[in-house]
Amino acid sequence: MTTAIKEETKINTMKALVYHGAGNKAWEDKPKASIQKSTDAVIRITTSTICGTDLHIMKGDLPLVTDGRILGHEGIGIVEEVGTGVTGFKKGDKVLISCVTSCGKCDNCKKAMYSHCRDGGWILGYLIDGTQAQYVRIPHADNSLYHIPADADENAFVMLSDIFPTGFECGVLNGQIKPGDTVAIVGSGPIGLAALLTAQFYSPAEIIMIDMDENRLQVAKTFGATKTVNSTDGKAVEAVLALTNRGEGVDVAIEAVGVPSSFLTCQGIIAPGGRIANIGVHGKSVELHMEKLWDRNIAITTRLVDTVTIPMLLKVVQSGKLDAKKLGTHVFRLTDVVKAYETFGNAAKEKALKVILRA
Ligand code: ZN
Ligand code: ZN
Repeated sequence: MTTAIKEETKINTMKALVYHGAGNKAWEDKPKASIQKSTDAVIRITTSTICGTDLHIMKGDLPLVTDGRILGHEGIGIVEEVGTGVTGFKKGDKVLISCVTSCGKCDNCKKAMYSHCRDGGWILGYLIDGTQAQYVRIPHADNSLYHIPADADENAFVMLSDIFPTGFECGVLNGQIKPGDTVAIVGSGPIGLAALLTAQFYSPAEIIMIDMDENRLQVAKTFGATKTVNSTDGKAVEAVLALTNRGEGVDVAIEAVGVPSSFLTCQGIIAPGGRIANIGVHGKSVELHMEKLWDRNIAITTRLVDTVTIPMLLKVVQSGKLDAKKLGTHVFRLTDVVKAYETFGNAAKEKALKVILRA
């Protein structure tokens, strides 16, 4: 191989975290992300992070993820190159990448339901290569990227790729939290905590956090939870009811775990007229106790995050009214992503919430 060819190869490769089937991953060479359609942009990643969903993928829970896929759907970076059809972004712009790719033009996008875009939705780090890499191709760049200031605190803003829009849209907005409401959030992980922080936009009277991990409940208290319930003993329903007015239950129950028991807890604690807002990604069927719920005037909602609230959340973070970076507990170099997965995979022991990857 001549030196010239060697150089060429180097320029056209990048490092990325690659999935090789359940339990197998590696930080390895891949062809450098490149423009495939005129509406694409290529982003040089400066900050990324690992999501609970990535751990699901690594367990093999999402069979559509194929061997060789680059993981990651959250990130910030600098625009490296844009296709000829991209009008809103140019080389050198600093951008936030939405975890949901959307064309902005199809029927579902026109309904602000980007999660069900006919040519997008959640595909990044799932059906197409993702953000745990030196470079990433973002389809439909004009509608899937957001400008952020060049001096933005990336450890804060990266939380707006997924975690905050998810907690806010699927939990807080769907739960229709109102001033004075009593809210319970089942699950005090990053998503539950994002719901906790954004629920406070609406001044609920009480926010009760439920989890089995005492450390996460303590964190929740510092984030504004008024009460906490440790559900290790399996008696969370009784404990939450005892904390509510006349034992009637809560106005809004947010499910932020994605397992049958936490959805059952929500059904057990919902007051007449209440709303159960599911956020969790469920892999198993859950029982719905209609014999107890049929006359209670409740609503149950589900949603895949649309990320339509990113522009609003950007303003709230920029104004200092939402301290998004406090969800980040660990910072790793992007090249140490395998080590970061280990820490995130042992979240309870490591007291990890979000682990941040810096290039
Ligand atoms: Zn995520
Ligand atoms: Zn669309």
